[in-house]
Amino acid sequence: MYLKKVELHGFKSFANKIEMSFEKGVTAVVGPNGSGKSNISDAIRWVLGEQSVKSLRGSKMEDVIFSGTSNRKALGMAEVSLTLDNSSQMLPIDYEEVTITRRMYRSGESEYYLNKSNCRLKDIRELLMDTGIGKDGYSIIGQGKIDEILSSKSEDRRQLFEEAVGIVKYKHRKQEATKK
Ligand code: ATP
Ligand code: MG
Repeated sequence: MYLKKVELHGFKSFANKIEMSFEKGVTAVVGPNGSGKSNISDAIRWVLGEQSVKSLRGSKMEDVIFSGTSNRKALGMAEVSLTLDNSSQMLPIDYEEVTITRRMYRSGESEYYLNKSNCRLKDIRELLMDTGIGKDGYSIIGQGKIDEILSSKSEDRRQLFEEAVGIVKYKHRKQEATKK
C-alpha cells in the first residue's frame, strides 16, 4: 500500500486546486523556505483527522483555510483528498483505491468522505486502525518524533507497538462493546 495522490484546494498556501501524484518508492519534496513543503505534510495529517491546531502550526482551526494575499481574496473553504493504493487489500475495503477527503468551512465544521461518500471521522479512524497510517500512526514521523517516542512513558510507547502488531482494532471493539 502506498500514497498515490494528494489533492489540495484552499488549504493554507495552496489557493488553487493542485494535484500531486506519487510513485512507489521515495519521493523528496524540495523548495525554498516558506514555499509550502510543511503545508503538504500538515495537509496529510489534517485529512486523516488531526484536530490539534497547534500541531498544524496555527492558532485556530480556521488557519488551515487560505487566508488571502495582497492580490488574492481569502477562500471560504479548504479541502484535501488523499488517495491510497489498496491493491494489496491491506485496508479492509473492497476497493483498489481508497480516497479520503476532508472539507472544512470557516464556520468550523468538517465533512469527511470515503471514496466520495459522506462518512464520519470515526469510520476513517476505524478503517485505518492497525495500519500505522492514522494521524498518530508511525507512518508520519515528524521532526522530534523519534525523541518523543524514546522519551515517552512506557504505556504510551506500548500503543505504537500495539498498532504495529495489529491489535488496536480488537481493543477498540472490546471497548465499544463494553461501553454502557
Ligand atoms: P521551511 O523550508 O522554512 O520549512 P516550508 O516550505 O516548509 O518552509 P511552509 O511552512 O509549508 O513552508 O509554508 C509557509 C507558508 O505558508 C508561509 O508563507 C505562510 O504565509 C503560508 N501560509 C500558511 N497558512 C496559510 C493560510 N491559511 N493562507 C495563506 N498562506 C498560508
Ligand atoms: Mg517546513
